Amino acid sequence: MEIIKRDVLKEKPKEGEALGFGRYFTDYMFTMKYTKGKGWHDAKIEPNVPQPFDLATSVLHYAQGIFEGMKAFIQPDGSIAVFRPYENWARMNRSADRMCIPRFPEEVAEEGLEALLKLEKDWIPTAPGTALYIRPTIVATKVALGVHASTEYLFFIILSPVGSYYAHGLEPVKLIVEDFYSRSSLGGTGEAKCLGNYAASIKAGEIAEEKGFDQALWLDSAEKKYVEEVGSMNMFFVIGGEVVTPALTGSILPGITRKSCLQILREKGYAVAERRISIDEVAEAAKSGALSEAFGTGTAAVISPVGLIRYKDVDYTVNGGKMGEITRMLYDTITGIQYGKLPDPHGWRKAVN
Ligand SMILES: *Cc1c(COP(=O)(O)O)cnc(C)c1O
Repeated sequence: MEIIKRDVLKEKPKEGEALGFGRYFTDYMFTMKYTKGKGWHDAKIEPNVPQPFDLATSVLHYAQGIFEGMKAFIQPDGSIAVFRPYENWARMNRSADRMCIPRFPEEVAEEGLEALLKLEKDWIPTAPGTALYIRPTIVATKVALGVHASTEYLFFIILSPVGSYYAHGLEPVKLIVEDFYSRSSLGGTGEAKCLGNYAASIKAGEIAEEKGFDQALWLDSAEKKYVEEVGSMNMFFVIGGEVVTPALTGSILPGITRKSCLQILREKGYAVAERRISIDEVAEAAKSGALSEAFGTGTAAVISPVGLIRYKDVDYTVNGGKMGEITRMLYDTITGIQYGKLPDPHGWRKAVN
């Protein structure tokens, strides 16, 4: 892999400094280009510096672009491990299909990521709960305003040392059910990790924040009846001892943390269901006391307990606003595997060496 070095390195965040999420970026990035007729080419590592680009670059206008999110962790022996990167590469190529972006070679992306991580090892934070967030992205780079699939693309991977996703760490979050706006509909792009999905979601997020909530809880767009997901997380509920998560019906992002949680729960013998779950069922279960836990799952926040859900001006407290047992078990198991403190029976840790 070609590496173009920079003369002056950036200043790293200080030891013990609150990193937040996605505020700092490392010195280098991996890039490769696509040109129609030529395919993907010019894979290399180069300085992560501001890029000059034409304002008619198509991604700026029509959002033909996709991204991923994963994390790298320092292991107890000082080595680096990435959590399930092959799942992310496969999903990224599925997102590419949906957005008419040419598939990229996953082994080249993985090789680029590993070379980049080795170069940037000193940027991986080691304080509890911190990690190096990995953001692979593909954007349409053709300079043209016609609405067509671009014939040129840029693939890049940038890295950011991160702390906890929510300002208050593992404190349970407060959700407000959004029953007007929707982020995704059947046949739309909600299943793909594409740029526009988040643009569509910002309005509801702002409204939630204005009202003092952390995130909006999305319902299905057709009936505004069934729970879909939250911000950048998939949702789980524990109702009458059964762990329930919305089935992947086509408008929900298929999370890798979600998939990992389902596997852990099934292996540990919990009753698990992937099915449609109405917001009325959640509200009823909260009223009757059958709802014992609720949590969100995603790479950024890992597992995030939900302490309160507001629906049609009624507040439903979950587990007295505290983190539940199953939520805690999943958090401990997944982070234990990620940080190398637990065995890795499924081969989820990809060693970088
Ligand atoms: C990325 C993402 C998730 C979580 O997926 P993970 O693979 O677990 O990180 C959930 N919902 C949306 C909308 C997302 O973009």
